[in-house]
Amino acid sequence: MPLSLSSRIKFNRRTFLKGMSASTASAGLPLFHLTQNTEAATGNFPPSDKLESWQDLYKARWSWDSITRGSHGWMNCRSACNWDLYVKDGIVVREEQSANYEQAEPNVPDLNPRGCQKGGCYTEVMYGPTRITTPLKRAGKRGEGKWQKITWQQAIDEIAEKYVDIAIKHGSASINHEPGTYFDYGATFASLIRFATLFGSSAPDTYAEVGDLNMGATLTLGMPLIGGSSDEWFLSDYLVVWMMNPAVTQMPDTHFLYEAKYNGADLVVIDPVHSATAIRADKWLPIKPGTDAALGLATARHIWATDKIDLPYLQEQTDFPLLIRTDTGRFLREKDLIKGGKKNLYYVWDLNQEKAIPASGCEGNEDDYNLGLNGTNPAIEGFFEVRSEDGELIPVMPVGATIKEQLDEWTFEKAANATGMSLELIRDFAVGFANAKRPMILSSYGSNRYLHSDLMNRTKLLCLSLKGCIGNEKGAGFSSIGFHGMEGYEEFITNPGTGMLGQMKMMAKLAGNAEVFSTMVDQLVGKKSKLQARHKLFRQAHPLITPNFTDMTSQNYHYQGIKEDIATEMDDLYPRKFDDYVTESIEKDWMPVSPRSGKIRARIMFGSNLLRRNNMTAKLIAEQWNDLELTVDMNFKMSYTSMHCDYVLPVAGYYEKPGIKFPVSFAPYLQYCDVAVKPLGESKDEWEIHWLLSEAIQRIAKERDLAPLENVNGDENDLKTLCDRFSLDNKYGPHDAEKITEDIIVNSHSCEDMDIEAVKKEGIQKFKSVGAPGWVNHIYNSDWDGVGVLQPLTDFIRHKTPWPTLHGRQQYYIDHPWFIEAGEAVPTHKESPEAGGSYEYQMISCHSRWSVHSTWRDTPLLLRMQRGEPVMYLNPSDAKLYNLEDNDWGVFFNRYGEFRMRVKLSTMIRPKVVFYFHAWEPSQFPDHNSFKNIIPGLINPLHFAGDGGEGQMVLSAAHYSPGSHVQDTRVGIRKWQGEKLKTAEDLIKEQKRNSTDKQRISL
Ligand code: SF4
Repeated sequence: MPLSLSSRIKFNRRTFLKGMSASTASAGLPLFHLTQNTEAATGNFPPSDKLESWQDLYKARWSWDSITRGSHGWMNCRSACNWDLYVKDGIVVREEQSANYEQAEPNVPDLNPRGCQKGGCYTEVMYGPTRITTPLKRAGKRGEGKWQKITWQQAIDEIAEKYVDIAIKHGSASINHEPGTYFDYGATFASLIRFATLFGSSAPDTYAEVGDLNMGATLTLGMPLIGGSSDEWFLSDYLVVWMMNPAVTQMPDTHFLYEAKYNGADLVVIDPVHSATAIRADKWLPIKPGTDAALGLATARHIWATDKIDLPYLQEQTDFPLLIRTDTGRFLREKDLIKGGKKNLYYVWDLNQEKAIPASGCEGNEDDYNLGLNGTNPAIEGFFEVRSEDGELIPVMPVGATIKEQLDEWTFEKAANATGMSLELIRDFAVGFANAKRPMILSSYGSNRYLHSDLMNRTKLLCLSLKGCIGNEKGAGFSSIGFHGMEGYEEFITNPGTGMLGQMKMMAKLAGNAEVFSTMVDQLVGKKSKLQARHKLFRQAHPLITPNFTDMTSQNYHYQGIKEDIATEMDDLYPRKFDDYVTESIEKDWMPVSPRSGKIRARIMFGSNLLRRNNMTAKLIAEQWNDLELTVDMNFKMSYTSMHCDYVLPVAGYYEKPGIKFPVSFAPYLQYCDVAVKPLGESKDEWEIHWLLSEAIQRIAKERDLAPLENVNGDENDLKTLCDRFSLDNKYGPHDAEKITEDIIVNSHSCEDMDIEAVKKEGIQKFKSVGAPGWVNHIYNSDWDGVGVLQPLTDFIRHKTPWPTLHGRQQYYIDHPWFIEAGEAVPTHKESPEAGGSYEYQMISCHSRWSVHSTWRDTPLLLRMQRGEPVMYLNPSDAKLYNLEDNDWGVFFNRYGEFRMRVKLSTMIRPKVVFYFHAWEPSQFPDHNSFKNIIPGLINPLHFAGDGGEGQMVLSAAHYSPGSHVQDTRVGIRKWQGEKLKTAEDLIKEQKRNSTDKQRISL
């Protein structure tokens, strides 16, 4: 029977957008819905408005006008996947995986198909109920939800005026550009960083603040982001997924784990939770949260005790043979032996010559600035004495000896006690690891969320180094995440000059720094290889090139009103008071904070969902947010943070602007994001928005004849030339996002000879090299030419290039006085502290299966696949204690307040642990009171230590900075009986009342 279409709304792009503005006018916001999308896809039925049969309906549904290759280029999802985007009548109606990746090597499975269910339904967000398509200005109080539609002209003019007013009144540094996790390698993110740098404002790095930064890896290897292609997992014979849940968080790559099993590998998962990855493992180790270092130490002990160590590797690649003075605990340096001796010349004890000799690979050893034993036989154990020039006998021991001493106590029994696992399970794991030929440890961002995560990661790396596995053989080593280098991108975001003159100015500025200058000369005269000079220069020049970088944890500590809370949590955990570490760090300029004084006066969000993400959010709102003079969010969807902003600027979504997905090494391909449809409604891409802002600010500065203002690092900054500098003297106009993106590709060595049209047509092209080491590229495999499985860190082993650490070797001994004093010079285990008070339950979390951060968290389609609202997982044995049944409301509380959440009973959770998948919006909780309000976010005070640029302990984005750690949080539980909860806001008021009372009494 023919179906009549007369009653249907006929949707094409125009009517679709018209419908959208109609809903905008009535509700204040454009309201899309999935059903509209389906209607749109099926609306334009050829050839008449009558369907003759069900087949016609089906055919009409699967018809399209064009297919574009695209991706979710701005999504912080650890992957890059190529998609076919089907467009009909100007609307993306369907997404399909492209599956055009090549097999890297014979007998290794290919990368196809790449994708996840979030990406497969991005159109649900794009056309969903939270989509923003018109500039909005707050019409009520912040967070009240009242908006008025304004024009772009009004939005840009008003915001630009406020930028200038605030910069004049409080300084440019008081304006904070907050990038969050929304970034790409094209014009989008480049425009934000470029604008913030040229305006002279602060741009905090959130990598560590969100808990993603692997400080253990930076301390040990000089870099935090380590990884090759995911097909390398297939080549391992002992895969240890240790603090990672790829079946949920990295779906496109997970198949290699299971394929490796068929290839004969053992798959071991170490996780307190019986995760989706653990379900398919050969062994699951249900470790007590926060005790991973204990397991690592027992494993390391077993490797050494059973003589499974790779001695030549330890002698050559690690600091095991470096001598430490037993009287001071510091490395023996030339300055200890000779007056005026070098600080950066270290020593080993050569067993062949029976004397201390300069260590190869350290910068101070000008004759041997390369790793390699060269006929020597350095001791890694024993005690020795060396004589100084003035006759003093100095007792010394190699680092290996002190590590062995530390390991001796870590018997399987002790590890079983610490980890809450059986002796057999621990022994079985350690034996398997020690006997494996190619053990590989997979550790993701989630491995950095405990106060002592650095110790855990240092311990994991120790197990691998003992077996000589890092950078040595394919299929063995450490895999967290790697990035290809794209110099075109780095140059575009950091070059603060205009044209040739600007370039020369920048070089002169860099060369004005004595260290940078001498590194440049070293490279010119061949004393340092290009690679050595590059990583050295990067460390030295980074603060000069991006002076506005600051670390967000420090910012929060100084400006969020949490100092007292952090003191309560931290002061008894380390030898000194927490604030003493911070004070010394600032005095020595190790960890400068921006702004250096005053207050943060403006927050410009770049899709960053700060008020969803921030720990102790209620404090941030009470102590800082309410005082802000300007809050803006540039976003394609309404988030909890946008709800609390003064202006919300609609940006083009993933399929509406050109871009490059960040070049993640798991799939070593350039992933181009082509434009499938025009920006929805009045949305604009970020390059255009920043271009318009810079133009308006330049105009205002000229109108006011504004004298140069001080920028974030104290230099003069002339806003009268802002747009000229931003646009590179008009080389790039407001509609040139595509041109910039193409230029970034053309100017990147890793993309050499790529044909731009082919890139767009295919969506992907395999990288030709790993690119130069830099901001986040730490692959260090200069031999890889786009062929074969990509293995990281091979340069150090094959070419004996020194590691980018203090002494050029993998560093297992941190001889910084703070680390020595705190007993953390060598990898060790420390208990997870009870953050939030001494409560019975440890509250831990993982990234979510049904959303990447909060982007899909409120998407109706995906909510239907879960419980539809935030849930806390609880072991049934614990639930019984509180008479809680599945789906009941539980109340979770600690010293910072309480919140309410449905409980989901599951034996996947250990008793005495409660667990949630992250990124629920506060607005999804009763009274907008989320768990974030009671998570203090511990900060490791040792991470404020610096080494003055001698080594890797240098503040730098995504490299080295303190972070906040959520997994140590403790809570109590009760069943909700309908009572009103004591929220964080109540406690803040109480705290304020108490301190006013105290002041009154003391007066
Ligand atoms: S969201 Fe990320 S993992 Fe998922 S399909 Fe897109 S690019 Fe791939």
